[in-house]
Amino acid sequence: MHVDGECHCGAIAWSAEVDPGQAGLCHCTDCQAFSGAPFRASVPASKDEFRLLRGHPRIYVKTADSGARRAQAFCGECGTPIYATSPDKPVTYNLRLGAIRQRADIVPRRQIWCSSALEWAKDIRAIPSM
Ligand SMILES: [Zn+2]
Ligand SMILES: [Zn+2]
Repeated sequence: MHVDGECHCGAIAWSAEVDPGQAGLCHCTDCQAFSGAPFRASVPASKDEFRLLRGHPRIYVKTADSGARRAQAFCGECGTPIYATSPDKPVTYNLRLGAIRQRADIVPRRQIWCSSALEWAKDIRAIPSM
């Protein structure tokens, strides 16, 4: 599936081919902090199928307790998260769903790090809608 995205300020734009069946949610505490949201949704694109169309993301390399390093790409102007990848040898770009134009059509198929999921976020239908 072809997708394209743009950060909030428009400085960075990209396109990619993704398999929507690989989309997922992550409830880890790092994703909560980086996204500013209760969980983060992503879909992977292979390195060869990701194209940066405009701008240059800033990179923050996160080091996990395990020592694993992940490059977190975001817009240096507006802060929109764009993707995460290996800082040394990128194979896939885990694209952040929130800034992909086709996000409504990409339904996450699995959730990970559920042990740190926020209890209230497991069913937001219980929250009154305005
Ligand atoms: Zn931006
Ligand atoms: Zn995570």
